[in-house]
Amino acid sequence: MKYVGAHVSAAGGADQAVHRAVELGADAFALFTKNQRQWQGKPLTETAIAAFKTACRQHGFTPEQILPHDSYLINLGHPEAEGLAKSRAAFLDEMQRCEQLGLTLLNFHPGSHLNKISESDCLKRIAESVNEALAQTQGVTAVIENTAGQGSNLGWRFEHLAEIIRHVDDKARVGVCIDTCHAFAAGYDLRTAEATQATLDELGSVVGFEYLRGMHLNDAKSAYASRVDRHHSLGKGNIGLPAFTTIMQDARISGIPLILETVEPDIWRDEISWLRAQVSEAAPGK
Ligand SMILES: [Zn+2]
Ligand SMILES: [Zn+2]
Repeated sequence: MKYVGAHVSAAGGADQAVHRAVELGADAFALFTKNQRQWQGKPLTETAIAAFKTACRQHGFTPEQILPHDSYLINLGHPEAEGLAKSRAAFLDEMQRCEQLGLTLLNFHPGSHLNKISESDCLKRIAESVNEALAQTQGVTAVIENTAGQGSNLGWRFEHLAEIIRHVDDKARVGVCIDTCHAFAAGYDLRTAEATQATLDELGSVVGFEYLRGMHLNDAKSAYASRVDRHHSLGKGNIGLPAFTTIMQDARISGIPLILETVEPDIWRDEISWLRAQVSEAAPGK
């Protein structure tokens, strides 16, 4: 079973995100549980929490179909004490918001060394940040997203993701989310079915599919291996449609939210139905 949806707006409350997902014909969605460009979010009220849980129940969404995303400001590998402390506090708040909403996943961008510490020190620092947050929460898995590798962002190599996981104490509550645009921009080829298969095989051997807790399905405006993060609608960018057909037909990818962050929300509904149609077109035995 593959859950397909998009990153929808939570304007007006998290429950509104559920309704927007339903309108798209989605059975998965992503959302921000607070303004993603601010450090402080207003605490969730009991009313807002109840409204969200009711909407999820009414429309049949379980936590494994929902992939909340944290704030863009957080850098869990920050080289400086003050920035690191601020990021860790904000990340803990994000984890606690998920707990309150009854959600079990939190998708985050690993962090940046800002050219002040080594890659390996930064990766260790990210893992320590995750350990701290996991120790203070229950039931929420920290889901590391691969990046395009812009600037000093880490997490663009599958090895980076594996290295962070290696240093996380509770392996049951750490996972990864693979963004196809980011992977492609980072140098993982997805331009043909065969190349996509090879990239997925590499993910399997370096990280392991048991850690795959979500995917972001985006085509790329950015060029292959450009380390630039620019999303595009499916089939309109430099990746092309075969990658998405291959992903939809891969049995190793199952029971996780597949989320569009493509650039034309007006066609999300069509993109979702196209993705679903790829599953049934699989050859027998796939
Ligand atoms: Zn993404
Ligand atoms: Zn992106």
